[in-house]
Amino acid sequence: MMAILMRHLLLNKHKIFYFFFCLGLFSCSDDTDNQLFTILTTTGILGDAVQNIVQDDKDVVVVSLMGPGIDPHTYQTTQKDVQQLEHADMIFYNGLDLEGKMNNLLKKMAQKRKVYAVGNALHATQLLCDGAIGIDPHIWFDIRLWKQVISFISQKLQAARPESAARYQNNTVAYLETLEQLHQSITTQLQSIPKEQRVLITAHDAFGYFGKAYDIEVVGLQGISTVSECGLKDINRIVQLIIKRNIKAIFLETSVSDKSMRAVLEGCAHYGHKVGVGGYLYSDALGAPDTLEGTYCGMVRANTTTIVNALK
Ligand SMILES: [Zn+2]
Repeated sequence: MMAILMRHLLLNKHKIFYFFFCLGLFSCSDDTDNQLFTILTTTGILGDAVQNIVQDDKDVVVVSLMGPGIDPHTYQTTQKDVQQLEHADMIFYNGLDLEGKMNNLLKKMAQKRKVYAVGNALHATQLLCDGAIGIDPHIWFDIRLWKQVISFISQKLQAARPESAARYQNNTVAYLETLEQLHQSITTQLQSIPKEQRVLITAHDAFGYFGKAYDIEVVGLQGISTVSECGLKDINRIVQLIIKRNIKAIFLETSVSDKSMRAVLEGCAHYGHKVGVGGYLYSDALGAPDTLEGTYCGMVRANTTTIVNALK
């Protein structure tokens, strides 16, 4: 018996070494992670908000589950996401049903750790609501509302990490000033588009808050969520509107399939009406991390430039 065991150990000694090597690696990795305060966000837009508050705090790591081009309405959590959520010290999500398929998991997580829906930063009267469809979750497109969200996140972070509260407060004040300047700047740019041409036609209704804040008429093909697909009736409705109003351009979105908007273009062509593609707008996801559009401010600036260039 002993001889068989010794033979087994000798034959598998490299595997056994590998097992203990991995064990060592994981335990080292756990030690490192334990020293860092992990803040997890669902969307990259929220990750950017947290990053602007914590900035260069070396004791903190910010992780976002949804990267560029990811649609939060239909996002399904992976096993890796669940592990990351379970190990996070704090979790921020948008709420208002944006992360529709994660609702149950987030509620479960809230029983064990600090989990915050940033939609709670806003008063019910500030939210856009369509009786039949529900509350519009795309609150980040009104910069003044997003400033309230930033203050809400900052309060929660300062309470969780009192040792860094003063730094976070200073960072927050500076970032709120940057956002106010951004609000003023894009207001001026968008008002340069003649009022009758200020119509934004997009794949899904992500720009309701944007339209209300900056006086732009917004028409979405798919409603406030991408979960249900649009039908031929919706496409015809938009085609007729484009022809009637002589609209110059429609817009595609980086996180939504452009299939239905291509059908709108074909529909317009069928009636001999020429309409252009104004370009891609960042709606529910930031651009790539190493680009200007990889930040909230960069994304808003890029969208504004695209809209002004296409509609003015
Ligand atoms: Zn959306």
